[in-house]
Order: sequence, then C-alpha cells, then structure tokens
Amino acid sequence: MYYNYTPFELEKWIEVFYKNIGITRPDDIDEQKIASALGISLDYSDRRSFSYEDRYDKLININNMLPKRIQRERFFHELGHILRHAGSQLIMPKSFIELQEFDSKRFTKYSALPYSMIFRYDLESNNISGQLAHDFGVSKELCVERVDNVRNKIFSKMILVMESNITY
Ligand SMILES: [Zn+2]
Repeated sequence: MYYNYTPFELEKWIEVFYKNIGITRPDDIDEQKIASALGISLDYSDRRSFSYEDRYDKLININNMLPKRIQRERFFHELGHILRHAGSQLIMPKSFIELQEFDSKRFTKYSALPYSMIFRYDLESNNISGQLAHDFGVSKELCVERVDNVRNKIFSKMILVMESNITY
C-alpha cells in the first residue's frame, strides 16, 4: 500500500533507532533488546510497573501479572518517560504529570506500531486493528487509536492539498 503520510519527528527517530538495532519487522520487536541498547535494566516482577532514573542507573519494572499485551504497552509507556521526561512525578504539579502521561501514550503508539511496519498493511481493511493487535502483540484498543490517528493525519493533509489548489 502507498500512503501519503508525513511522519512526526518522534516517529522518524524511532524508525532510525529500530533499524540501527536490527528491528525491521513486527517479530523483531523485543523489549529486552530495546532496553539493552539504551542501557536500561528491565525487570519483570509482581511489583507495580514503574521507571526510575538517576545519574548511574536506568531501570524499568513491569508488573508480570498483567496480560502480555498490556505488559508490552507498559514497557513502551515507561520507556517514553525515561527517554523523554525528567523529574519525579511525586513532586510534580498535576498538569505536568498529565502532559507527561499524554506524551508517553503517544510514544507507546509510535514505538509499538512503527509507521513503516503498519504501512505494509491495508489500513482500510475491515479487521485491521485486530490483525495489527495480533501481529504486534498489543491491545486492539491501542491499534484502533493508532490507525485512527494515521487516517486523520493523511486525511487532513489531503484536505490541505485540495484547498491549496482552489482559487476563488
Ligand atoms: Zn506514566
């Protein structure tokens, strides 16, 4: 499929990073591999999921009681915090925390469902979200959001192009 899609800078960064560590297909996506490449210790335990960073260590813990698909999403969520945010949410104003949570959610969608990989699918097909959820090992809800976002971005660009060709 050909899609006229302009990725966000963050999406481009993730693509380059993945290529550099040999992740080019959904099956290649591997939390341990990603964490190691970034010098992050990754643990799975019955403690709640969190990320932690100080001058010496970066650590992600994922609650291993969660369903596997949600564990994967939590990993990307916590990774987003480590890569993109500084400071402890324990001492942060609520609006700041909300901003960071929103950003981590965005990061999760881009890194769990990289655009170059999802564009190999027909994003207009009926059960596309179920198919992506199966192949990428994440929840269907996340895939629905991702596909919606991509469609909206392509559609709003089409409108812009159309409008730029209109003269009154
Ligand atoms: Zn968070």
